[in-house]
Amino acid sequence: MRDLSFSSGGITLKPLVVYPERLTLIPLPKKITLSLKQDSISPLIPLVKKNTQVKAGDKIAQKGSSTLISPVDGRVLQIRKDFRNYLGEEVGAIDIEVNEISSFPQKDFNKKEQLGNIIESGIVDTQGQILPLIEKFEIIQKYKADTIIINGLEEIVANGRNYYFLQKKNQIIAQGLKTLNELLQPKRLIIALYRDFRRVEGIEEIVGHHNNLEIVFLKNKYPQHRIPILVRSILKQDYPINEIIEKHLKVSILDLETIYELGRLFNGYMPYREKLITVVKGDLTNTHVVGASIGTPIGHILNQLHVDLNSVSKVVVNGTISGTSLPSLDYPLTKEIGIIFVQNKGNEVEFCEEVCIKCGLCVEVCPMNLMPLFLSGYSQSNQFDFLTKFNIGSCIECGCCAYVCPVNIPLVQWIKYGKAHLQAQKSIA
Ligand code: SF4
Ligand code: SF4
Repeated sequence: MRDLSFSSGGITLKPLVVYPERLTLIPLPKKITLSLKQDSISPLIPLVKKNTQVKAGDKIAQKGSSTLISPVDGRVLQIRKDFRNYLGEEVGAIDIEVNEISSFPQKDFNKKEQLGNIIESGIVDTQGQILPLIEKFEIIQKYKADTIIINGLEEIVANGRNYYFLQKKNQIIAQGLKTLNELLQPKRLIIALYRDFRRVEGIEEIVGHHNNLEIVFLKNKYPQHRIPILVRSILKQDYPINEIIEKHLKVSILDLETIYELGRLFNGYMPYREKLITVVKGDLTNTHVVGASIGTPIGHILNQLHVDLNSVSKVVVNGTISGTSLPSLDYPLTKEIGIIFVQNKGNEVEFCEEVCIKCGLCVEVCPMNLMPLFLSGYSQSNQFDFLTKFNIGSCIECGCCAYVCPVNIPLVQWIKYGKAHLQAQKSIA
């Protein structure tokens, strides 16, 4: 086991985090909404119609190797073409009325057909592009990536579910690692964790079964969990952002959740019926690890956790600093969501259009060694040509710069605006 430090930049968030020991299981709602876009592949094609009776485990939509299986027994209420995901893309969805008693079938997977089972299960990996696991495996094999890093880091305050995976589900994680080793036979298998996790019982036992497996412990610094920073900390190597890491470094990154779902699959359980997520409430020390079916409305999850929705100013998914704000609490849980952050009224950061005071703090914290003040400034003044010169493409949108800016300039929004403009110019050319 190695103990590594973060290279440069970044911010230290609250060090004291109490990880939940208990899982809160959310009962099924009366209706679930299954987004037809659960990964980076374009929307799936429904295989069911209005009023089709479905069983938990039935395949209900597909496109290529991207699969959606119904997590519940029920009746298809409607196929909605106009459903938008939380990024505002019109992707469509299937609404299912859930039967009062919904089965939770165990599947008898034939171990000789592991790859076929993985396709049928619909497991996705959420590191980098969100891809069906089978496609990720194909990329690993195509580029002969012989090192696999399993990312057990999320933002420190939102890392409850990774703690839970290792502390309470270590047998399933061990099964997932065994399957991964059998299928891909990587030379090195590295699990990346925060130093807090050194005290997790059962880690040695997981490591003990595999000769090629090591654990590295990393300092708690945001955004240590982002792929370029993670790779730099562990392997001391950089690679061109937005390029295929497997091609450039012969390394691939998988999420710890993927290993968990893989382990569950080969223990006979249906993936994503009890997807684990971390819910962070208000003051950042109040975290829950929750098990809920995909398709469950986020509002239903918060109700079950007794969140007073009147006191909530916004709900953000997949990050407390750089996550995306949900347009509505009816928005359903999807495979890609790992964190739900509930922000209370009164704690909002008021972004403003103050003038930059050139304090340099944003430059100091930028983990990609960029000049956020210039990136934002040139975007604001529509001087887009300068953005490429200042390497805007390397920005990982972590939000460190905006977090520390004393005059609350919405730096990331401006950077995103600049990037979108350059992207549009490129597609016209
Ligand atoms: S410029 Fe980009 S990479 Fe740098 S701190 Fe800001 S958001 Fe993060
Ligand atoms: S932190 Fe804010 S005020 Fe300071 S240099 Fe950066 S943009 Fe300007």
